[in-house]
Amino acid sequence: MGLLTIGAFARASRLSPKALRLYDELGLLPPAHVDPATGYRFYDPAQLERARLVAWLRRIGMPLARIREVCGLEAAAAADEVRAYWAEVEADTAARRDLATFLIDHLTWKDAAEMPHSTPRTAPPLAIRYATLSDPGRVRETNQDAAYAGTRLLAVADGYGRRGAPASTAAIEALKALETEALPAGELLNVLQDAVRRAGQAVQDLDTAADSGTTLTAMLWTGSQLALVHIGDSRAYLLRDGELFQITHDHTLVQSMVDQGRLTPDEATSHPQRSLLLRALTSEAADASPPEPDLRLHDARPGDRYLLCSDGLSTVVPADDLLRVLSTTPDREQAVRDLVTLANQVGGPDNVTCVVADVVEPGL
Ligand code: MN
Repeated sequence: MGLLTIGAFARASRLSPKALRLYDELGLLPPAHVDPATGYRFYDPAQLERARLVAWLRRIGMPLARIREVCGLEAAAAADEVRAYWAEVEADTAARRDLATFLIDHLTWKDAAEMPHSTPRTAPPLAIRYATLSDPGRVRETNQDAAYAGTRLLAVADGYGRRGAPASTAAIEALKALETEALPAGELLNVLQDAVRRAGQAVQDLDTAADSGTTLTAMLWTGSQLALVHIGDSRAYLLRDGELFQITHDHTLVQSMVDQGRLTPDEATSHPQRSLLLRALTSEAADASPPEPDLRLHDARPGDRYLLCSDGLSTVVPADDLLRVLSTTPDREQAVRDLVTLANQVGGPDNVTCVVADVVEPGL
C-alpha cells in the first residue's frame, strides 16, 4: 500500500491532523515521508497502530516524554510501563484525596468560626494520654531518633547522616511551639504547614554536611481531631475496633516500587536499599525545592489508640506483633517498653522509638 496523506491518515487513525502535527513536532510519530518542496506529511499505514497507541496513552494522561518511552518498547514491556504509570497515578491521587478531605474540613471550620450562632460541631472535647520511649537498639552506638509526646503534640523523627541526631532533635524542637500556639478554628492546615516549614528550616540551619537529614511524623491534637503531618519513613498506625491501620505512606524508593508493582511487600522488607528515602527534611541547600509533607486529618473516637514509630520498630517487628502488643497492653508505659523489647529481641539493628497515645473521655 502506498503512503497516505495526513488527511487520509487522520481519518484512518481517528486522530485530527492537528494532533498528528503535534505528535510529529514532539517526536512521537514522525511521518514516513515529508515532501521537501511542499512540506506535506505522508504516513505509512503501518504507522496506524503507533498513532492509536499514542492517542490512548494521551487519554490516560501520560506525559509526552513517557509516551515516547513506551512507544519504543515491545508490547510486554510497554504493558509493564503503563501498569507502573497507573500505579503512580493512583498513589498520587490517594495522597491528594487525603489533602482534599483535610481542605474540606478546614473550610468547614472557617465558616463555622465566622458564624457566631452556629451550633458546636462536636461533642465535648476528648483528651489524649500518651507514653514514649526511645532506645539506641543493640547495634548502633548512638541514638539519632528523637521523640516528643505532650498534651497536644505527638512526634517521632529519625535522623540520618553524620549529624542525624541534631537534625531529628531540631525538627522536633521546632514543632514544640505547637504545644502552646493558638489554634484558631479553620487555621489548622496553615498552622501545620508553618510548623513543618520551621522544622525544615531548623534542619537546614544546622551547620551540617549535605548528607544529613531527618524524617518527621507528627500528630497535632485539636480536642476532637488529630492532624497528621508526615515526611519520610517513620510511621503512624491507628488501632481502632481491634484492627491496626497504617495511616502513613513511606516516602521510600522501595515503597514506590511496591506501589508500581515492581516489588512485592515481602521483597521490600529485605531489599538492600529499603531505607533510601525519597522525601525527608534535609540539610541540603535551600534552593532545592522543599519537600512537601503528607497531611491528613482524623476524627478521634474514644478508645482509639495511635502508634507513632521509627523504622527501627516497623522494619523488624511484623504488624501482627504490633497489633498484639497494642491491643493487649492497656498500660501505655508498658506498651512502649514491650514494643522496644520486641525490636531488640530480633537484633535491634536500628534505633527504635515509639509513641503510644490513647484517645479518652475527659477525666479518665
Ligand atoms: Mn531508623
